[in-house]
Amino acid sequence: MYVELKNIEKSYGNYKASDHINIGIGKGKLVALLGPSGSGKTTILRMIAGLETPNAGDIIIDGKRVNDIAPAERGIGFVFQNYALFRYMTVYENLAFGLKIKKLPKKQIKERVIELIELTGLKGLEKRYPNQLSGGQRQRVAFARALAPNPSLLLLDEPFAAIDAKVRAELRSWLREMIHKVGITSIFVTHDQDEAVEVADEIIITNKGQIEQIAAPIEIYKNP
Ligand code: ADP
Ligand code: ADP
Repeated sequence: MYVELKNIEKSYGNYKASDHINIGIGKGKLVALLGPSGSGKTTILRMIAGLETPNAGDIIIDGKRVNDIAPAERGIGFVFQNYALFRYMTVYENLAFGLKIKKLPKKQIKERVIELIELTGLKGLEKRYPNQLSGGQRQRVAFARALAPNPSLLLLDEPFAAIDAKVRAELRSWLREMIHKVGITSIFVTHDQDEAVEVADEIIITNKGQIEQIAAPIEIYKNP
């Protein structure tokens, strides 16, 4: 799906967390929102998800205003920085959970979970609990779980922030490959310039609630 933000304004009290935001994200694109802490990245992500309502402007997903689409119909998947896996469920059960809620037939759930495990390289880990996994493995489970119901848009909020540097480097290229393989439109929040350059097709730089620049990764290091 494609996503458009038109003249978005969002204030918390007197503070403008989003100031005149205009963005268009094409179908299948992997876009990074890059900026320092407090620059308004998460606010943008939360508004796209419909978790916050802008004070002004429109958020359009495939031609429809996001607030006119029922939450369950939005087709949005999330990955958070702190994994947010279910601690008392195995990897298999974590991946199956959302599909069980949707009351899919057992056979179909099993097929989808096996497909996700193969896609994300989690084979052999099905019966482990989150505390029996490494940070990188947990984040791959979180990613697989977000993809389970076949969303059309994936939102990732600092997905590697809690992971050590070496594993983080591996996960970046892994994520880029996964997202392009699945072909899902994705928006990725980070404060790490190298990460944005390595992962994204396009980089949107936020500063003080505004968009400072929209650039291809190759252009980022050219400007002071
Ligand atoms: P980033 O993701 O770039 O770190 P955020 O979008 O989280 O930035 O926050 C932007 C600004 O809005 C920050 O100054 C933050 O303190 C403020 N803010 C975010 N959410 C709230 C809230 N629920 N209530 C009040 N202020 C908030
Ligand atoms: P229930 O609905 O009673 O939980 P399930 O068929 O969903 O039954 O699964 C039973 C258990 O077997 C679960 O704990 C799940 O982790 C495990 N399981 C089911 N299928 C697989 C599979 N293909 N690979 C690994 N574990 C599986």
